[in-house]
Amino acid sequence: MAAESSFKLTYATMFNPPEEMHVNFENALAKIRANLGKEYGMLIDGKEVFADEKVEDRNPAKTSEILALFQKGNASHAEAALAAARKAFPMWSRMRWQDRVALVRKAAELMDQRLYEMSAVVALEVGKNRMEAMGDVAETADLFRYACDRMEANNGFVTEMGRDPLVGFISTNTSVLRPYGVWIVISPFNFPASLTGGPTASALVTGNTVVIKPATDTPWTSRFIAECLRDAGIPDGVFNFVTGPGSSLGQALITSQEADGITFTGSYDVGMKIYCDFSQGRYVRPTILELGGKNPAIVSRHANLEDAAVGIVRSAFGLQGQKCSACSRVFIEEPVYDQLVPRLVELTQKLTIGDPTERSVYLGPVVNKSSYRDYQEFSAELHRAARVLTGGKVLTEGSYADGYFCAPTLAVDLPADHRLWQHEMFVPITTVASVRNLDEAMQRANDVNYGLTAGFYGAPEEVDWFFDNIQAGVCYANRPQGATTGAWPGFQPFGGWKGSGSTGKNAGGVHYLQLYMHEQIRTLVRRA
Ligand code: NDP
Repeated sequence: MAAESSFKLTYATMFNPPEEMHVNFENALAKIRANLGKEYGMLIDGKEVFADEKVEDRNPAKTSEILALFQKGNASHAEAALAAARKAFPMWSRMRWQDRVALVRKAAELMDQRLYEMSAVVALEVGKNRMEAMGDVAETADLFRYACDRMEANNGFVTEMGRDPLVGFISTNTSVLRPYGVWIVISPFNFPASLTGGPTASALVTGNTVVIKPATDTPWTSRFIAECLRDAGIPDGVFNFVTGPGSSLGQALITSQEADGITFTGSYDVGMKIYCDFSQGRYVRPTILELGGKNPAIVSRHANLEDAAVGIVRSAFGLQGQKCSACSRVFIEEPVYDQLVPRLVELTQKLTIGDPTERSVYLGPVVNKSSYRDYQEFSAELHRAARVLTGGKVLTEGSYADGYFCAPTLAVDLPADHRLWQHEMFVPITTVASVRNLDEAMQRANDVNYGLTAGFYGAPEEVDWFFDNIQAGVCYANRPQGATTGAWPGFQPFGGWKGSGSTGKNAGGVHYLQLYMHEQIRTLVRRA
């Protein structure tokens, strides 16, 4: 076990894990597989709650396989969860912050212990390859700890301010950041652990109580998170876990006046709707939105082309292009275009596609029928409007027959004004263009509504120009580990500009936790 314990798993290190991680993953997978098909409740006020209707959690690599049954919660469950969170708020918010930190740290420890089983579930329900699945869970435990670290580093956000220069009086002023109240966390399918767990831990350590609603495609992973919180001893009602459709259950959470804040991670369209609907309250409530991306990589004529090729292909096709940070646009300076493009094609064609729980597989299936259909429609559009160099078709033969498998796709010669340069496709498709110079590359890179991540490959003296001009929240230069993907809390806090995010402060960074609290200044005057 020595090798594993000295190895720190991140998205940048995951390409060479110790052997034990594979063995442990396989053992846990066998255990999970032996327990498929069970029914899981919602957790409201510490109790298992069952709805009349159920939702099947299916394996996108083998759609005939039912992984588990979850509840199709409705508006009454939303109401019950919010009421339980409201009831628990006075106790939880008045608890010493050090005690809240201890409970959240305990939940992170439990997550470490359950890492392999949780990862097996992530791989099965999302279709993530095993290293990406382990990354998602390990990142979640780190996000829990990071939130705790920030509370400690800031002394619970209690800060002594200046003393008024009063004659005959002594005046002390204290700034205290205090929780808002009941916090909603709505998460997407693609990082069901970290994007549910990260906001939840941040809301909890700061003293808010929480209602979690995961994506309908991936409830099982989030249920594991809820169990870690419960088993750590977090009191009933402090967090609540409800499952069901975003359009009904989710919408009921948004339109309720019982919520005091929200963290929504998901698509631009749903996020903008939530932004509007959540503003219909009696006053403005904090709305943390983490939305889509259309992330560019720019390659200069001075770049190390091998690093560029490896980094671009990893980021374009990791998790089948279903990362908000996926590299979906590539701009290459003309003098190196003809050299780099064939290498991108070669590396893409070498990627293994199949059952994502298998060790050798890099690309699993896309998450559901709707994404599968999207891929086919975008491919058809690209076949008409551009030149598809590789991919552009779904895989249906043999072991692919029962899953949503799509060939990773590179397309060139797409007209610059085509809509697919702007639209977040969220499937394994990347469009590549030749540009006359770096200024043209930058202009096109920034010419989208999004501003999440971006990558650059070039000479050291070009790097500052890239960082200064690119409009994105997370920027990487000369990184073969991933052109636009692979952020880790504490290293690369994650968040977007423009249509990619609402706060301008990145998750897993030093300015994030403050978003979950409002400031109170406490002035106390006594006679000298
Ligand atoms: P969606 O926007 O489709 O769904 C996200 C969540 O919102 C799901 O839980 C969904 O529930 C719920 N939801 C849907 N409609 C409503 C509603 N009216 N009211 C309340 N909740 C609702 O996103 P995906 O799950 O498809 O995730 C992919 C998207 O997420 C991409 O755009 C990606 O870029 C973005 N993303 C952004 C990240 C970031 O950090 N910026 C990180 C990861 C992903 P249900 O599943 O039941 O529909």
